[in-house]
Amino acid sequence: MRRVVVVVLDGMRRDQIAAANTPGLVRFAERSQTFGQHRSMFPSATRVVSASFATGCLPARHELQGNALALLEDGRLVQHDAGHPDFLQHKRRVTGRALAVPTLAERLAASGGMVLFSNVSPGAAYAHDPDGFGHIYHRAGSYAPGRKRLEGPQALAISQDAEGERLMTERFIREALIERSPPLAILWLGEPDATQHLQPLGSPRQLSALAQADANAARVVTAVEGLRERGDDVLLIICSDHGHQTVSRVVDIEAELIAAGLKDSRESTDVVTPTSGTATLIYVAAACADRIAGIAAFLASRDWVDRVIGPDRLGEVGQAARHGLTFAISLKSDDEPNAFGVRGRSVEARPAAGKADHLGCGQHGGLARYEQMPFLMIEGSGFKAGDVSNTPTSPIDVAPTILAHLRQPGTGMDGRALQGARAR
Ligand SMILES: [Zn+2]
Repeated sequence: MRRVVVVVLDGMRRDQIAAANTPGLVRFAERSQTFGQHRSMFPSATRVVSASFATGCLPARHELQGNALALLEDGRLVQHDAGHPDFLQHKRRVTGRALAVPTLAERLAASGGMVLFSNVSPGAAYAHDPDGFGHIYHRAGSYAPGRKRLEGPQALAISQDAEGERLMTERFIREALIERSPPLAILWLGEPDATQHLQPLGSPRQLSALAQADANAARVVTAVEGLRERGDDVLLIICSDHGHQTVSRVVDIEAELIAAGLKDSRESTDVVTPTSGTATLIYVAAACADRIAGIAAFLASRDWVDRVIGPDRLGEVGQAARHGLTFAISLKSDDEPNAFGVRGRSVEARPAAGKADHLGCGQHGGLARYEQMPFLMIEGSGFKAGDVSNTPTSPIDVAPTILAHLRQPGTGMDGRALQGARAR
């Protein structure tokens, strides 16, 4: 049986893969093909990457524009946290569709389906299958096809800590890999991302989160060896979704826009600025189009900006000037080390009211070097063990690669299958 197994170590930086902290990944790199130029999406944020991973399409096509974003509701811009468990159901009610293109779960529904276990935000987990074609297991609610809610022992009652991650991994191996054998099984670990948002990169607790995620990935590698011994033709993909930068400063973009007279108040819906950590999206209401030139000049004058992408250039970063989206910003970064010698610092946009900032700890979302440094390793037919490929890759290439292994058409995707991708 041809099948695909994917393990995602959320937030793992490629340059932190080393024998001391991630011996399992170092061993796996020797027997898989690795992709040395692998990048994240923009914003480099879990919910955006999840939708891109699930659809093989850029945000301009799937419409999950940021970890937070705005929807046009009754002609007004309304800001939403896309991590909320109900966000994509709400988006379907407002816009007619949760995601604008089909997911892997939908494409595989007639040929055995997808099973996903996830320990990240509910919104990111459900972005893999908002319309209910496969099985999704998450602590905020687990669903069978038809979005039938699973209860009791069938649900996934785990905590967002080391114990929860290990329990989820063991259950994934037992149920998804050994007992049920779907063509596509995905394990999306919450670590090391969860710890990195709360601890400095390179600190003892962050390094221990790397080791713990590495051990869970190694458990899956061992289980896949067992599947191959029983005759399954398994493509094993181990990757991360984005890296992290150290937060060097926190900036209140909304307050600065109000002070500059470009936004009326915190509550106003003329200009809204949902943040994805070290990136921010700026939506401008159609009635306020006369402010666009002023906002562009304001942004160009700020010392907390690396890159402003205006309405005519959003396509360069995989976005589109639709649904009010007018500017995207990647916040200022540098290559300086933090107190533990880990390089790469960025400015963080002040999180939404009530949420703590991450000063001194990890964050991501922008286009800076290390947040755009996730890893990708693939083992199985079409991939050469030990090779390092310098072909440019990103999360939109994973879905076509999965479908190619399963001999299913990958039509209508922005990414491409990586089987046979040229080694250096
Ligand atoms: Zn993530």
